[in-house]
Amino acid sequence: MTTTTTTYHLRAVTDELAARTHLGATEMKNRTFCGVNLLVKGDPRFGGRYKDAAFTASTDLETVDCGACKRGAAWKGAKGGKYAAPEGKPKNAEASR
Ligand SMILES: [Zn+2]
Repeated sequence: MTTTTTTYHLRAVTDELAARTHLGATEMKNRTFCGVNLLVKGDPRFGGRYKDAAFTASTDLETVDCGACKRGAAWKGAKGGKYAAPEGKPKNAEASR
């Protein structure tokens, strides 16, 4: 097992389909940490109905209210300063719930 040292630039993301504000990262584009694919510009899904409703992103992580995202390792890593100072912390930090 190699320790991934990916540094995420976390952000709060939401779109018209999302009932909640999710945790995302610029590196993950429209993919949230709980697995939702947010709307993008020109999105062909849903018959193109939301093609002009691209998701919005904010650096204010306090607006994230998705429980699944908040239970994830990325959220805990953010709260633990993991992404502010990446130094290869143990990946099993998420096991201490
Ligand atoms: Zn989420």
